Amino acid sequence: MASKCTKCVKVTKDGVQCVQCFQCENIFHAKCVGVNDDVVEVTRTLLNFKWYCDICLKTVSNIRLLTKTVNDNNNEIKLKVDQINAANISLKHELDIIKNMIKDNDSKLEKLDEPDEAQEIKEGEKNIMMFNVTEGDNDRDRVKEIIKKLSSDIKDSDMKRIIKLGKRVESTNRPILIVMDNISAKELVMKSSYKLKQMSEELSKIWIANDLTAEQRSELKSLIANAKSREAACTGGFLYREMIWKSKKKSGLFVLITGVNL
Ligand SMILES: [Zn+2]
Ligand SMILES: [Zn+2]
Repeated sequence: MASKCTKCVKVTKDGVQCVQCFQCENIFHAKCVGVNDDVVEVTRTLLNFKWYCDICLKTVSNIRLLTKTVNDNNNEIKLKVDQINAANISLKHELDIIKNMIKDNDSKLEKLDEPDEAQEIKEGEKNIMMFNVTEGDNDRDRVKEIIKKLSSDIKDSDMKRIIKLGKRVESTNRPILIVMDNISAKELVMKSSYKLKQMSEELSKIWIANDLTAEQRSELKSLIANAKSREAACTGGFLYREMIWKSKKKSGLFVLITGVNL
């Protein structure tokens, strides 16, 4: 099939020199695009010499420009990726440090959450528990007065803190924790606690014991709740409540009489 010159749109006849664009492969009369016979010969015989039509030549230079821009952008992106990688490495390092700090804190928190029982007993060595003190007004002052009755050597300043343990439950006297200022004051109270039995009827019901551990305190809490429900279930109008609490660390039993309902 006869081909046509892209420029003049006339059929290319045999014997008339033509050139073909390397890019779009369109055929042109050599004369139509100003190419002389020598150039036609060179493009035919030397593979490294290619001829481009005006349109494709423009496109090629555009592609070259585009390629340069893309390459420049690629280099910029590569630089940024390198910077991000470097930042990531340093972030990862910092993250590792933070993770280790969190791990450290977690183990410290665990220690706080579950205090060693022996340690707590040691810290509680100045503590005294007082049971069956009738709850009312000025309980702290009354507790201080009761303690001072045991020995004239005990002063207000020997009692650092007086705390009622647990929530108020109707007709139940909460155990009272007394934190003494020093061990000798505590020992004096413990040694003299037998005197309570010889005091008034109300005071003779009071019991004094060593401080309880957290585990023992929760045991006591459930015993109080149990006594409370037994009292609620009692229809006879009389309930003598007796709770037995056994310490894991010490031999013997503490008997708590929480009150007599008549
Ligand atoms: Zn032509
Ligand atoms: Zn072309």
